[in-house]
Amino acid sequence: MQRRALILAPMAALALQAEAESTVLRGKFTATGQLTTPKGKVKLTGDEETQKVLADPRLNGVDFEALGTFTKNNEFTIDPIHTRAIWAYRDGQRLMVTYWCGVCYIRTYAPGECWCCQDDTQLDFKDPNSKDPTP
Ligand SMILES: [Zn+2]
Repeated sequence: MQRRALILAPMAALALQAEAESTVLRGKFTATGQLTTPKGKVKLTGDEETQKVLADPRLNGVDFEALGTFTKNNEFTIDPIHTRAIWAYRDGQRLMVTYWCGVCYIRTYAPGECWCCQDDTQLDFKDPNSKDPTP
């Protein structure tokens, strides 16, 4: 019994480490998919939906924060889009980067046409603690 506990304990520790692995990277979004950080320029990448966000020129100049891991020197892979790994700072407030269709009241996490009315969605920084009833 005691021996089993000794074996399981390090495994549990490893599992915890894997969950807390994400690095927080903050800097200025300067060109599509590029971030200027205090440590230099970093190329951002991620899953398909994340790449769509990174290709959005409306984010240029934004105080940007991403959660993920350095996969290569100066290349940072952002965590999957559903984990809400993309943030922006405005007036010191940490806001979610989302896209909004004001016609259908539909919010998405990647830019493009609204799946309902096919209108272009608007970039919308959303306060996660806001009492705003929109989703
Ligand atoms: Zn719509």
